[in-house]
Amino acid sequence: MHITRKEYLLEQKEKGRRLMGVFPALYPREILWALDIVPAEIWDPPLEIRQAGAHLQPYICSVVRLGLELILQGKCDFLDGFLFPHTCDSIQNLASVIYDFIGARKPCYFFYHPKIPHGHTARDYYLKNLKALAAELKRQFGPLKMDSLREKVDMGRRISELLGELYDLRAARRLDASNEAFYRTIRKGEYLFPDDYIAELEGFLTQTRSEESRNGATIILSGILPNPPQILTLLDDLDVQVGHDDLLNGSRRLLISNEKPGDPFEYMAECYFHMPPCPTRGSSISDRMRHLLSLINATGAKGVIFNVVKFCEPEWFDVPNLQEELKKRGVPSLVLDTELNQGLSGQMKTRLEAFIEIVRVHRESITTKH
Ligand code: SF4
Repeated sequence: MHITRKEYLLEQKEKGRRLMGVFPALYPREILWALDIVPAEIWDPPLEIRQAGAHLQPYICSVVRLGLELILQGKCDFLDGFLFPHTCDSIQNLASVIYDFIGARKPCYFFYHPKIPHGHTARDYYLKNLKALAAELKRQFGPLKMDSLREKVDMGRRISELLGELYDLRAARRLDASNEAFYRTIRKGEYLFPDDYIAELEGFLTQTRSEESRNGATIILSGILPNPPQILTLLDDLDVQVGHDDLLNGSRRLLISNEKPGDPFEYMAECYFHMPPCPTRGSSISDRMRHLLSLINATGAKGVIFNVVKFCEPEWFDVPNLQEELKKRGVPSLVLDTELNQGLSGQMKTRLEAFIEIVRVHRESITTKH
């Protein structure tokens, strides 16, 4: 599909669907789809910040900054509403700035999910909030039909299966795709309606599935999202593959599917409580470390790149501890402190290239020992 995100969304609107601007990161997309709403996720719009700075503290991350700028520049005027999941204090703050102070001139919805540690009421709380969101949306978008929700849950499940297959092939070095092409495809799920996304993923799988095993060094990419995209391009140029990711808008939220219970709300709850560890849900360092090591073992990766969005509190709380733990286990890691859409500075590029050299030497010494 070769049309832009905006063109696609406008096309959907012409078809009679409604459009919801959704801020990161976790939300029950199946409920929106079942109401014929297209979620248009807002992570890193390519904009120059001109107005948002006046409404935010200087130490707020660029996900929030760019999201607010998008609204202030009037680029969301064609949307029918906004959804704010309770991801972190910064998104909460943004919701308040938009809803209470600036005036979004659109209906705003809020979605709360339980944080870890989960008490015995967490599941009921989550189910209650799923149904409360559906009830809120009803006023603007009509009642949620259970048949439609079941159908969209099935589609969500199919998407997770396809993504799982792509991630598994990549981990097994049997995916003939650049890092840049992989994430360009995955990220289309941030705005495509499920039938279009399924077709996109199926096509990508057919084109890239490979019988031959790929050579070259492999790393794990951790953080919020694969931006600046120049990181991926540089890794491609250096013939380094991201073997797996620990990204909030990647595998931390995309690969979850479970046995299909009869009730779609129960299914969505099952998925939520089976997500991999993430600091935005309050996971412990030990759980995150176990998870990272499992990704390293599954892919044979020889290093971890933490691409941390500047001022992202949830990530910055964990990264020094994770880096320390990896060091104890002899796994090289690199921390990049990046601003979205700002490219890679010369210094960052040099650090990344030097890190890849270390990973290569590490890989060769292990290969030689074997
Ligand atoms: S980058 Fe971090 S601080 Fe910013 S919205 Fe995402 S999780 Fe919150």
